[in-house]
Amino acid sequence: MLLLKNCYYVATFDENGTELRNVDIFIEGNRIKRIGKGFDIEGNLTVQTIDCSNLVILPGLVNTHHHFFQVLTRNYPPVQNAKLFDWLVNLYKVWKNIDEEAIYYSSLIVMAELLKTGCTLTSDNHYLYPQGIEEIFDIQIEAAKKLGIRTALTRGSMTMGESEGGLPPDVICQDTDTVIKDSQRVIEKFHNKDELAMTKVVLGPCSPFNVAESTMTESEKLARHYGVKLHTHLAETKDEEKFCLENYGMRPLEYMEKLNWVGEDVFFAHGIWFNDDEMKFLAETKTGVSHCPSSNMRLGSGIARVKEMLEMGIPVSLAVDGSSSNDSSDMLGEVRNCMLLQRIKYGHDAITARDALKIATKGGAEMLGFNKLGVLKEGYGADLIGVNIKQFQYAGSLSDPLAALVFTGYNHNVELNIVNGRIVVSKGKVVGIDEEELTERVNEISISLIEKANA
Ligand SMILES: [Zn+2]
Repeated sequence: MLLLKNCYYVATFDENGTELRNVDIFIEGNRIKRIGKGFDIEGNLTVQTIDCSNLVILPGLVNTHHHFFQVLTRNYPPVQNAKLFDWLVNLYKVWKNIDEEAIYYSSLIVMAELLKTGCTLTSDNHYLYPQGIEEIFDIQIEAAKKLGIRTALTRGSMTMGESEGGLPPDVICQDTDTVIKDSQRVIEKFHNKDELAMTKVVLGPCSPFNVAESTMTESEKLARHYGVKLHTHLAETKDEEKFCLENYGMRPLEYMEKLNWVGEDVFFAHGIWFNDDEMKFLAETKTGVSHCPSSNMRLGSGIARVKEMLEMGIPVSLAVDGSSSNDSSDMLGEVRNCMLLQRIKYGHDAITARDALKIATKGGAEMLGFNKLGVLKEGYGADLIGVNIKQFQYAGSLSDPLAALVFTGYNHNVELNIVNGRIVVSKGKVVGIDEEELTERVNEISISLIEKANA
Protein backbone atom coordinates (compact mmCIF):
# COMPACT_ATOMS: atom_id res chain seq x y z
CA MET A 1 0.00 0.00 0.00
CA LEU A 2 1.22 3.48 -0.89
CA LEU A 3 0.16 6.83 0.51
CA LEU A 4 1.09 9.88 -1.59
CA LYS A 5 0.90 12.50 1.11
CA ASN A 6 0.17 16.22 0.64
CA CYS A 7 0.28 16.26 -3.14
CA TYR A 8 0.95 19.88 -4.18
CA TYR A 9 -1.34 19.61 -7.22
CA VAL A 10 -3.31 16.71 -8.71
CA ALA A 11 -4.77 16.69 -12.22
CA THR A 12 -7.17 13.76 -12.49
CA PHE A 13 -8.30 14.09 -16.15
CA ASP A 14 -11.67 12.68 -15.07
CA GLU A 15 -14.86 13.60 -17.00
CA ASN A 16 -15.11 16.93 -15.12
CA GLY A 17 -11.41 17.74 -15.47
CA THR A 18 -11.08 17.81 -11.67
CA GLU A 19 -7.86 19.36 -10.36
CA LEU A 20 -7.07 19.41 -6.64
CA ARG A 21 -4.56 20.96 -4.25
CA ASN A 22 -3.03 19.49 -1.10
CA VAL A 23 -4.70 16.09 -1.22
CA ASP A 24 -3.51 12.56 -0.50
CA ILE A 25 -3.73 9.60 -2.85
CA PHE A 26 -4.07 6.16 -1.36
CA ILE A 27 -3.02 3.21 -3.51
CA GLU A 28 -3.96 -0.34 -2.59
CA GLY A 29 -2.45 -3.11 -4.72
CA ASN A 30 -2.49 -1.94 -8.32
CA ARG A 31 -5.46 0.43 -8.01
CA ILE A 32 -6.19 3.91 -6.71
CA LYS A 33 -8.27 3.41 -3.59
CA ARG A 34 -8.99 7.02 -2.58
CA ILE A 35 -8.13 10.60 -3.44
CA GLY A 36 -8.87 13.17 -0.72
CA LYS A 37 -7.84 14.30 2.71
CA GLY A 38 -7.42 12.87 6.18
CA PHE A 39 -7.47 9.11 5.62
CA ASP A 40 -7.52 7.08 8.76
CA ILE A 41 -4.53 4.93 7.90
CA GLU A 42 -1.82 6.64 9.97
CA GLY A 43 0.19 4.13 11.94
CA ASN A 44 -0.55 1.28 9.52
CA LEU A 45 2.91 -0.27 9.17
CA THR A 46 2.16 -1.83 5.79
CA VAL A 47 1.67 1.61 4.21
CA GLN A 48 4.66 3.30 2.57
CA THR A 49 4.23 7.09 2.76
CA ILE A 50 5.76 9.44 0.20
CA ASP A 51 5.92 13.19 0.74
CA CYS A 52 4.48 14.78 -2.42
CA SER A 53 4.36 18.40 -1.26
CA ASN A 54 6.54 19.50 -4.20
CA LEU A 55 4.91 17.31 -6.81
CA VAL A 56 2.36 17.84 -9.54
CA ILE A 57 0.68 14.45 -9.91
CA LEU A 58 -1.05 13.30 -13.09
CA PRO A 59 -1.90 10.06 -14.87
CA GLY A 60 1.08 8.32 -16.47
CA LEU A 61 1.77 9.29 -20.08
CA VAL A 62 1.11 6.72 -22.79
CA ASN A 63 3.36 6.25 -25.80
CA THR A 64 1.55 4.52 -28.66
CA HIS A 65 4.30 4.18 -31.29
CA HIS A 66 8.04 3.53 -31.13
CA HIS A 67 10.95 1.53 -32.57
CA PHE A 68 13.21 0.85 -29.58
CA PHE A 69 16.12 -0.61 -31.56
CA GLN A 70 16.62 2.72 -33.33
CA VAL A 71 18.26 4.13 -30.20
CA LEU A 72 21.43 2.46 -31.50
CA THR A 73 21.50 4.83 -34.49
CA ARG A 74 20.41 8.09 -32.90
CA ASN A 75 21.79 11.15 -34.59
CA TYR A 76 23.52 9.04 -37.29
CA PRO A 77 25.30 11.54 -39.58
CA PRO A 78 24.37 9.97 -42.98
CA VAL A 79 20.65 10.46 -42.20
CA GLN A 80 20.62 13.61 -40.10
CA ASN A 81 19.15 15.57 -43.00
CA ALA A 82 17.37 12.85 -44.96
CA LYS A 83 13.69 12.43 -45.75
CA LEU A 84 11.92 9.21 -44.82
CA PHE A 85 12.68 6.88 -47.76
CA ASP A 86 16.40 7.86 -48.00
CA TRP A 87 16.63 7.81 -44.21
CA LEU A 88 15.30 4.23 -44.15
CA VAL A 89 17.47 2.89 -47.00
CA ASN A 90 20.64 4.20 -45.28
CA LEU A 91 19.66 2.92 -41.84
CA TYR A 92 18.64 -0.57 -43.02
CA LYS A 93 22.37 -1.09 -43.78
CA VAL A 94 23.22 -0.64 -40.09
CA TRP A 95 20.12 -2.25 -38.62
CA LYS A 96 20.47 -5.50 -40.57
CA ASN A 97 23.22 -6.59 -38.15
CA ILE A 98 21.30 -6.23 -34.89
CA ASP A 99 21.29 -9.28 -32.65
CA GLU A 100 19.60 -10.43 -29.42
CA GLU A 101 21.93 -8.38 -27.21
CA ALA A 102 21.29 -5.22 -29.26
CA ILE A 103 17.53 -5.77 -29.01
CA TYR A 104 17.60 -6.37 -25.26
CA TYR A 105 19.76 -3.36 -24.33
CA SER A 106 18.11 -0.96 -26.77
CA SER A 107 14.68 -1.94 -25.42
CA LEU A 108 15.91 -1.58 -21.84
CA ILE A 109 17.43 1.90 -22.24
CA VAL A 110 14.51 3.28 -24.25
CA MET A 111 11.89 2.07 -21.81
CA ALA A 112 13.99 3.48 -18.95
CA GLU A 113 14.12 6.85 -20.74
CA LEU A 114 10.37 6.70 -21.24
CA LEU A 115 9.83 6.01 -17.53
CA LYS A 116 12.10 8.91 -16.59
CA THR A 117 10.11 11.32 -18.75
CA GLY A 118 6.71 10.29 -17.44
CA CYS A 119 5.59 7.33 -19.54
CA THR A 120 3.93 4.40 -17.76
CA LEU A 121 2.53 2.46 -20.73
CA THR A 122 4.28 2.05 -24.06
CA SER A 123 3.88 0.34 -27.36
CA ASP A 124 6.69 -0.58 -29.74
CA ASN A 125 6.79 -1.56 -33.39
CA HIS A 126 9.71 -3.90 -33.90
CA TYR A 127 9.55 -4.83 -37.59
CA LEU A 128 13.15 -5.89 -38.19
CA TYR A 129 13.77 -9.64 -38.16
CA PRO A 130 17.35 -10.45 -39.25
CA GLN A 131 17.57 -14.11 -40.20
CA GLY A 132 18.22 -16.45 -37.29
CA ILE A 133 16.64 -14.24 -34.61
CA GLU A 134 13.11 -15.37 -33.98
CA GLU A 135 11.81 -14.60 -30.52
CA ILE A 136 12.40 -10.87 -30.49
CA PHE A 137 9.07 -10.10 -28.82
CA ASP A 138 10.10 -12.26 -25.86
CA ILE A 139 13.37 -10.33 -25.46
CA GLN A 140 11.48 -7.04 -25.33
CA ILE A 141 9.05 -8.39 -22.74
CA GLU A 142 12.00 -9.49 -20.59
CA ALA A 143 13.38 -5.92 -20.66
CA ALA A 144 9.95 -4.46 -19.82
CA LYS A 145 9.59 -6.83 -16.85
CA LYS A 146 12.98 -5.78 -15.48
CA LEU A 147 11.78 -2.16 -15.39
CA GLY A 148 8.13 -2.72 -14.44
CA ILE A 149 6.72 -0.66 -17.31
CA ARG A 150 3.32 -1.59 -18.74
CA THR A 151 3.36 -2.53 -22.43
CA ALA A 152 1.19 -3.07 -25.47
CA LEU A 153 3.96 -4.05 -27.90
CA THR A 154 3.21 -4.79 -31.53
CA ARG A 155 4.50 -7.88 -33.27
CA GLY A 156 5.83 -5.93 -36.25
CA SER A 157 6.87 -7.31 -39.62
CA MET A 158 8.29 -6.61 -43.06
CA THR A 159 7.55 -9.10 -45.87
CA MET A 160 8.19 -7.10 -49.05
CA GLY A 161 11.92 -6.68 -49.57
CA GLU A 162 13.83 -5.14 -52.49
CA SER A 163 13.32 -8.17 -54.72
CA GLU A 164 9.53 -7.75 -54.40
CA GLY A 165 9.56 -4.02 -55.11
CA GLY A 166 9.68 -2.96 -51.44
CA LEU A 167 12.19 -0.71 -49.70
CA PRO A 168 14.14 -2.93 -47.20
CA PRO A 169 16.87 -5.47 -48.03
CA ASP A 170 15.49 -9.03 -48.22
CA VAL A 171 17.73 -10.24 -45.36
CA ILE A 172 15.67 -8.40 -42.72
CA CYS A 173 12.30 -9.49 -44.08
CA GLN A 174 10.27 -12.62 -43.35
CA ASP A 175 7.52 -14.39 -45.30
CA THR A 176 3.86 -14.09 -44.37
CA ASP A 177 3.59 -17.64 -42.98
CA THR A 178 6.48 -17.09 -40.57
CA VAL A 179 5.04 -13.74 -39.44
CA ILE A 180 1.56 -15.12 -38.85
CA LYS A 181 2.83 -18.19 -36.99
CA ASP A 182 4.93 -16.05 -34.64
CA SER A 183 2.11 -13.51 -34.25
CA GLN A 184 -0.19 -16.28 -33.08
CA ARG A 185 2.53 -17.59 -30.75
CA VAL A 186 3.07 -14.22 -29.06
CA ILE A 187 -0.66 -13.54 -28.72
CA GLU A 188 -1.18 -16.91 -27.01
CA LYS A 189 1.90 -16.50 -24.83
CA PHE A 190 1.67 -12.83 -23.83
CA HIS A 191 -1.68 -11.20 -24.59
CA ASN A 192 -3.68 -10.53 -21.44
CA LYS A 193 -7.29 -9.30 -21.79
CA ASP A 194 -7.46 -7.98 -18.24
CA GLU A 195 -8.25 -4.25 -17.89
CA LEU A 196 -5.02 -3.78 -15.93
CA ALA A 197 -2.88 -6.24 -17.89
CA MET A 198 0.86 -5.58 -17.79
CA THR A 199 1.18 -6.93 -21.33
CA LYS A 200 -1.08 -6.72 -24.33
CA VAL A 201 -0.18 -7.69 -27.88
CA VAL A 202 -0.92 -5.64 -31.00
CA LEU A 203 -0.27 -6.82 -34.57
CA GLY A 204 1.78 -4.26 -36.48
CA PRO A 205 2.88 -5.00 -40.07
CA CYS A 206 5.20 -2.07 -40.77
CA SER A 207 3.81 -0.09 -43.72
CA PRO A 208 2.31 -0.29 -47.23
CA PHE A 209 5.78 0.03 -48.80
CA ASN A 210 7.46 -2.90 -47.06
CA VAL A 211 4.68 -5.38 -46.26
CA ALA A 212 2.99 -7.80 -48.69
CA GLU A 213 -0.79 -7.63 -49.06
CA SER A 214 -1.10 -11.21 -47.77
CA THR A 215 0.59 -10.19 -44.47
CA MET A 216 -1.92 -7.38 -44.04
CA THR A 217 -4.96 -9.60 -44.69
CA GLU A 218 -3.71 -12.56 -42.63
CA SER A 219 -2.78 -10.24 -39.72
CA GLU A 220 -6.24 -8.68 -39.87
CA LYS A 221 -7.94 -12.10 -39.67
CA LEU A 222 -5.73 -13.22 -36.80
CA ALA A 223 -6.13 -9.97 -34.82
CA ARG A 224 -9.91 -10.04 -35.09
CA HIS A 225 -10.04 -13.71 -34.16
CA TYR A 226 -8.16 -13.00 -30.91
CA GLY A 227 -9.56 -9.52 -30.29
CA VAL A 228 -6.19 -7.74 -30.43
CA LYS A 229 -5.57 -4.35 -32.03
CA LEU A 230 -4.04 -3.58 -35.42
CA HIS A 231 -1.41 -0.95 -36.12
CA THR A 232 0.66 0.28 -39.06
CA HIS A 233 2.35 3.41 -40.44
CA LEU A 234 0.03 5.39 -42.72
CA ALA A 235 -0.13 8.72 -44.55
CA GLU A 236 3.27 9.73 -43.19
CA THR A 237 4.77 11.16 -46.39
CA LYS A 238 3.88 12.21 -49.92
CA ASP A 239 6.34 9.52 -51.15
CA GLU A 240 4.20 6.85 -49.47
CA GLU A 241 1.08 8.24 -51.14
CA LYS A 242 2.86 8.10 -54.53
CA PHE A 243 4.01 4.52 -53.82
CA CYS A 244 0.45 3.41 -53.05
CA LEU A 245 -1.00 5.13 -56.13
CA GLU A 246 1.65 3.52 -58.36
CA ASN A 247 1.64 0.05 -56.81
CA TYR A 248 -1.96 -0.41 -55.63
CA GLY A 249 -3.75 2.16 -57.79
CA MET A 250 -5.24 3.86 -54.74
CA ARG A 251 -4.45 6.24 -51.89
CA PRO A 252 -3.07 4.77 -48.60
CA LEU A 253 -6.35 4.92 -46.67
CA GLU A 254 -8.34 3.48 -49.60
CA TYR A 255 -5.90 0.58 -49.58
CA MET A 256 -6.52 0.07 -45.85
CA GLU A 257 -10.27 0.13 -46.41
CA LYS A 258 -9.92 -2.48 -49.13
CA LEU A 259 -7.97 -4.69 -46.68
CA ASN A 260 -10.60 -4.20 -43.94
CA TRP A 261 -8.01 -2.35 -41.87
CA VAL A 262 -10.36 0.28 -40.41
CA GLY A 263 -12.41 0.53 -37.22
CA GLU A 264 -12.11 1.09 -33.48
CA ASP A 265 -9.47 -1.61 -33.18
CA VAL A 266 -7.13 -0.02 -35.75
CA PHE A 267 -4.70 2.88 -35.22
CA PHE A 268 -2.24 4.40 -37.66
CA ALA A 269 1.08 6.06 -36.86
CA HIS A 270 1.45 9.63 -38.21
CA GLY A 271 -1.71 10.20 -40.30
CA ILE A 272 -0.46 13.45 -41.80
CA TRP A 273 -1.74 13.39 -45.38
CA PHE A 274 -5.43 12.52 -45.03
CA ASN A 275 -7.77 14.60 -47.22
CA ASP A 276 -11.17 15.95 -46.03
CA ASP A 277 -13.15 12.86 -47.09
CA GLU A 278 -10.63 10.58 -45.43
CA MET A 279 -10.86 12.59 -42.20
CA LYS A 280 -14.65 12.10 -42.23
CA PHE A 281 -14.19 8.39 -42.87
CA LEU A 282 -11.78 8.09 -39.90
CA ALA A 283 -14.32 9.86 -37.68
CA GLU A 284 -17.21 7.63 -38.83
CA THR A 285 -15.24 4.43 -38.33
CA LYS A 286 -13.46 5.64 -35.13
CA THR A 287 -10.12 4.62 -36.60
CA GLY A 288 -7.30 6.09 -34.50
CA VAL A 289 -4.15 8.10 -35.14
CA SER A 290 -0.85 8.02 -33.19
CA HIS A 291 0.48 11.54 -33.55
CA CYS A 292 4.32 11.84 -33.62
CA PRO A 293 5.10 15.57 -33.74
CA SER A 294 8.89 15.50 -33.12
CA SER A 295 9.51 12.82 -35.73
CA ASN A 296 7.30 14.63 -38.24
CA MET A 297 9.31 17.83 -37.71
CA ARG A 298 12.66 16.03 -37.71
CA LEU A 299 12.00 14.28 -41.04
CA GLY A 300 10.13 17.24 -42.49
CA SER A 301 7.17 14.93 -43.13
CA GLY A 302 4.41 17.49 -42.48
CA ILE A 303 1.90 18.50 -39.78
CA ALA A 304 -0.96 16.18 -38.83
CA ARG A 305 -4.42 17.80 -38.60
CA VAL A 306 -4.75 17.01 -34.89
CA LYS A 307 -6.90 20.03 -33.98
CA GLU A 308 -9.48 19.04 -36.61
CA MET A 309 -9.22 15.36 -35.65
CA LEU A 310 -10.14 16.21 -32.06
CA GLU A 311 -13.06 18.39 -33.16
CA MET A 312 -14.34 15.62 -35.45
CA GLY A 313 -14.05 12.90 -32.79
CA ILE A 314 -11.21 10.95 -34.42
CA PRO A 315 -9.33 9.10 -31.64
CA VAL A 316 -5.86 10.66 -31.24
CA SER A 317 -2.95 9.54 -29.08
CA LEU A 318 0.64 10.71 -28.74
CA ALA A 319 3.92 8.97 -29.55
CA VAL A 320 7.63 9.73 -29.68
CA ASP A 321 8.21 7.42 -32.70
CA GLY A 322 11.52 5.61 -33.18
CA SER A 323 14.73 6.87 -31.63
CA SER A 324 16.41 7.54 -34.99
CA SER A 325 13.78 10.09 -36.02
CA ASN A 326 13.13 11.97 -32.79
CA ASP A 327 15.92 11.25 -31.58
CA SER A 328 14.88 10.84 -27.98
CA SER A 329 12.17 9.15 -25.96
CA ASP A 330 11.27 12.29 -24.05
CA MET A 331 7.56 11.71 -23.46
CA LEU A 332 6.78 14.93 -21.59
CA GLY A 333 8.79 16.86 -24.19
CA GLU A 334 6.57 15.29 -26.85
CA VAL A 335 3.50 16.78 -25.17
CA ARG A 336 5.08 20.23 -25.49
CA ASN A 337 5.92 19.66 -29.16
CA CYS A 338 2.37 18.47 -29.79
CA MET A 339 0.92 21.72 -28.47
CA LEU A 340 3.44 23.95 -30.24
CA LEU A 341 3.26 22.25 -33.63
CA GLN A 342 -0.53 22.61 -33.85
CA ARG A 343 -0.13 26.34 -33.18
CA ILE A 344 2.13 26.68 -36.21
CA LYS A 345 -0.64 25.25 -38.38
CA TYR A 346 -3.76 26.67 -36.73
CA GLY A 347 -2.69 29.71 -34.72
CA HIS A 348 -2.27 30.78 -31.12
CA ASP A 349 -5.16 28.88 -29.53
CA ALA A 350 -5.08 25.69 -31.64
CA ILE A 351 -4.82 23.33 -28.68
CA THR A 352 -4.14 23.93 -24.99
CA ALA A 353 -1.61 22.33 -22.64
CA ARG A 354 -4.50 20.34 -21.12
CA ASP A 355 -5.66 19.17 -24.57
CA ALA A 356 -2.15 17.90 -25.32
CA LEU A 357 -1.88 16.15 -21.94
CA LYS A 358 -5.28 14.53 -22.43
CA ILE A 359 -4.18 13.09 -25.78
CA ALA A 360 -1.06 11.76 -24.04
CA THR A 361 -2.94 10.14 -21.13
CA LYS A 362 -6.57 9.10 -21.70
CA GLY A 363 -6.18 9.22 -25.50
CA GLY A 364 -3.29 6.77 -25.46
CA ALA A 365 -4.72 4.44 -22.82
CA GLU A 366 -7.99 4.04 -24.75
CA MET A 367 -6.20 3.51 -28.05
CA LEU A 368 -4.14 0.67 -26.61
CA GLY A 369 -7.23 -0.95 -25.06
CA PHE A 370 -6.90 0.13 -21.41
CA ASN A 371 -10.15 1.71 -20.24
CA LYS A 372 -9.15 1.86 -16.57
CA LEU A 373 -5.99 3.91 -17.14
CA GLY A 374 -5.28 7.49 -18.21
CA VAL A 375 -7.47 8.97 -15.47
CA LEU A 376 -6.85 9.32 -11.72
CA LYS A 377 -10.00 8.01 -10.12
CA GLU A 378 -10.95 5.61 -7.38
CA GLY A 379 -10.92 2.05 -8.73
CA TYR A 380 -8.70 2.93 -11.69
CA GLY A 381 -5.20 1.56 -12.24
CA ALA A 382 -2.40 3.11 -10.17
CA ASP A 383 -0.28 4.44 -13.06
CA LEU A 384 0.76 7.96 -12.20
CA ILE A 385 3.67 10.37 -12.27
CA GLY A 386 4.93 13.22 -10.11
CA VAL A 387 6.98 16.17 -11.35
CA ASN A 388 8.85 18.38 -8.88
CA ILE A 389 7.47 21.83 -9.64
CA LYS A 390 9.49 23.57 -6.93
CA GLN A 391 12.73 23.58 -8.86
CA PHE A 392 14.82 26.02 -10.90
CA GLN A 393 13.35 25.19 -14.30
CA TYR A 394 9.76 25.84 -13.19
CA ALA A 395 10.40 29.00 -11.14
CA GLY A 396 7.73 31.63 -11.69
CA SER A 397 5.19 29.22 -13.22
CA LEU A 398 3.09 28.26 -10.16
CA SER A 399 0.04 30.25 -11.29
CA ASP A 400 -0.91 27.09 -13.24
CA PRO A 401 1.13 24.13 -11.98
CA LEU A 402 -0.29 21.66 -14.53
CA ALA A 403 0.22 23.76 -17.68
CA ALA A 404 3.71 24.59 -16.34
CA LEU A 405 4.77 21.04 -17.23
CA VAL A 406 4.05 21.78 -20.91
CA PHE A 407 4.91 25.49 -21.19
CA THR A 408 7.99 25.47 -18.96
CA GLY A 409 11.01 23.33 -18.21
CA TYR A 410 14.01 22.12 -20.18
CA ASN A 411 14.52 18.62 -18.92
CA HIS A 412 11.39 16.58 -18.61
CA ASN A 413 12.46 14.14 -15.93
CA VAL A 414 9.87 13.13 -13.41
CA GLU A 415 10.65 12.68 -9.75
CA LEU A 416 8.22 9.84 -9.22
CA ASN A 417 6.74 7.24 -11.55
CA ILE A 418 4.36 4.54 -10.36
CA VAL A 419 3.19 1.71 -12.62
CA ASN A 420 0.55 -0.76 -11.46
CA GLY A 421 1.01 0.42 -7.87
CA ARG A 422 4.78 -0.09 -7.92
CA ILE A 423 7.43 2.66 -7.77
CA VAL A 424 9.58 2.47 -10.92
CA VAL A 425 11.22 5.91 -10.75
CA SER A 426 12.18 7.16 -7.32
CA LYS A 427 13.77 10.59 -6.70
CA GLY A 428 14.33 10.87 -10.46
CA LYS A 429 16.22 7.57 -10.80
CA VAL A 430 14.98 4.47 -12.57
CA VAL A 431 14.66 1.69 -10.01
CA GLY A 432 16.58 -1.56 -10.62
CA ILE A 433 19.17 -0.47 -13.19
CA ASP A 434 22.55 1.25 -13.18
CA GLU A 435 21.98 4.12 -15.62
CA GLU A 436 25.70 4.76 -16.27
CA GLU A 437 26.52 1.13 -16.89
CA LEU A 438 23.56 0.77 -19.25
CA THR A 439 24.58 3.91 -21.17
CA GLU A 440 28.09 2.55 -21.65
CA ARG A 441 26.79 -0.80 -22.84
CA VAL A 442 24.46 0.79 -25.38
CA ASN A 443 27.25 3.04 -26.70
CA GLU A 444 29.49 0.00 -27.24
CA ILE A 445 26.77 -1.88 -29.13
CA SER A 446 25.94 1.19 -31.22
CA ILE A 447 29.57 1.85 -32.22
CA SER A 448 30.14 -1.79 -33.11
CA LEU A 449 26.99 -1.87 -35.31
CA ILE A 450 28.02 1.26 -37.18
CA GLU A 451 31.57 -0.04 -37.65
CA LYS A 452 30.18 -3.29 -39.06
CA ALA A 453 28.01 -1.39 -41.55
CA ASN A 454 30.99 0.67 -42.72
CA ALA A 455 33.47 -2.22 -42.87
ZN1 LIG B 1 7.43 4.67 -36.83
